[in-house]
Amino acid sequence: MSALRGTGVAPGIAVGRALLMERDAAPVFRLAVPADRVEAEVRRLEAAIEASREQLSAIKERLSREVGAPHAYIFDAHLLMLDDPLLRERAAGIVRGEGVNAEWALRSVSESLHALFSQFSDAYLRERSTDLDDVIGRIQLNLRGTPEAPSLSRLPGPVVLVAGDLVPSEAGALDWDRVLAIVTDVGSSTYHTAIIARSLGIPAVAGLKEATRQIPAGSLVAVDGTRGEVVVEPSGAALEALEAAQEAYRREEERLRGTRGLAARTLDGVEVSLEANVEFPEEAATAQLHGASGIGLFRSEYLLGRGLRFPTEEQQLDVYRRLVEQMHPYPVTVRTWDVGLEALGPLGPSSPNPALGERALRLLRRSPDPFRVQLRALLRAGCQGPVRIMFPFVSGPGDLRLALALLEQAKAELRAEGVPFCEDVPVGVNVEVPSAAVVADLLAAEVDFFSVGTNDLIQYLLAVDRTDPRVSSLYEPLHPAVLRTLRQIAQAAEASGRPLSVCGEMAGQPVEAVLLVGLGFRSLSMAPSAIPRVKEALRAVRAADARSLAAKCLALATCREIQALVNETLAGWADLDSAPAERDGLTGSRGL
Ligand code: PEP
Ligand code: MG
Repeated sequence: MSALRGTGVAPGIAVGRALLMERDAAPVFRLAVPADRVEAEVRRLEAAIEASREQLSAIKERLSREVGAPHAYIFDAHLLMLDDPLLRERAAGIVRGEGVNAEWALRSVSESLHALFSQFSDAYLRERSTDLDDVIGRIQLNLRGTPEAPSLSRLPGPVVLVAGDLVPSEAGALDWDRVLAIVTDVGSSTYHTAIIARSLGIPAVAGLKEATRQIPAGSLVAVDGTRGEVVVEPSGAALEALEAAQEAYRREEERLRGTRGLAARTLDGVEVSLEANVEFPEEAATAQLHGASGIGLFRSEYLLGRGLRFPTEEQQLDVYRRLVEQMHPYPVTVRTWDVGLEALGPLGPSSPNPALGERALRLLRRSPDPFRVQLRALLRAGCQGPVRIMFPFVSGPGDLRLALALLEQAKAELRAEGVPFCEDVPVGVNVEVPSAAVVADLLAAEVDFFSVGTNDLIQYLLAVDRTDPRVSSLYEPLHPAVLRTLRQIAQAAEASGRPLSVCGEMAGQPVEAVLLVGLGFRSLSMAPSAIPRVKEALRAVRAADARSLAAKCLALATCREIQALVNETLAGWADLDSAPAERDGLTGSRGL
């Protein structure tokens, strides 16, 4: 038994067999192959190598015919690589020696050959490593075509998925029904895969750095997403303790679900609207189950799936309509495509720093069509019920106006075509770029609502990559700069009378939620499963007290001081408070 520590990013406990995944060009899984299947696995490898040989020979022949033999010589080198014992025999040896699948064996061979190539002093020989990638990539592709090959959407049985990284398009394609828990080397609680796991109630631990190296494929692992712990091959006693904890967690969840019908109202009568963040349309049911009064953020880019194909207007209309119908009479806020350059196709030049590059609304200059189609679908869905359009990654009125002009164009088109749509679908800004926060008063004059995306706002304000576990301790939602910026946005919204909400992960943390109410926020959107706890916390406090706590925090200099004051104050309130849960016939412990 061994234990690894990371960051618990989605609560709950699960025990299951580890399925390892790493990515070359595409995901590669490490699977344990039983002794009696090893020779069949070697034959699978051989067959993929033979298929690669046939394809390469055909390419070489065609090139010789069409552009001349000298240009085809490179494929002789590729064909030779296929037979090189360093590749072929070594890969088969790894399958037999380590009892792993052919894909993983090839990946190991590729790593060791790259290490070897990098030592060559001759630049020409060093550069041959790209040919190696080409050849190995082709064999991997041929392996992928075989029926035994697992894929993200076809996982081999219920598993604990252990991955280096899991990007949104992979998370979107994942066969979540077969995922017991998620364990990743990278990431923190604002990592998209963590956000989805939380929404779906699947335990997850992120930021483990070396989990893919330390967890053997096929081993039994226990994942405690509440404590951020992963136990490999747990002992009987450890399993018993985990089962007891799991049972306690289940009972607490059950109790919290009982708060569904209660108002999200503070002790002094301030109503707070608690909405849900969702990635998949099916989650609307979970949002309702947890008592959400609307969808505060639908991350529409998950509709693109792994193929990164934008759905048609009709396909989108169908999804948005269903969401509106299901959430009736509450509103559904759809964030327009928050995608990177890669969504525009493989030919798009890559960005050296995607988080600061051409993404989301910035792509509108290069390629307005996908946005125009989405806006048309949203305007049409507005006939069905309350839809709200939210633009992400707005840096100021300049790029907002481009989006608003496109919205007007979409309306003009629909009008001219005689297609029914809603003229006044509310339009808002996802305030997540610091410059947008600074000019919030200017933005307020041009939109109907604000929703603060604290996940990105904190990342950009503090210059801390939200996906990098090495700097996760510097990612401080209670940093004085964050609180002051939030207060400034709240003041701008207040002055202009614009509704204001927070849809970052901060809103789903009970303590932070109390502070947000103190800062003036009256609407919070979060993972559906976070709603009951936040509701319970808000019902246990007075908004007036939260306001004076926030005011004191705004005068402090460090996150640590703010954290200490908040903890001390909330503990005091919990002691003094006259059991608000009982007021509504609720029993059990309260939220803070
Ligand atoms: C945010 O940035 O806070 C947000 C809600 O969006 P995402 O996490 O999808 O970037
Ligand atoms: Mg964001």
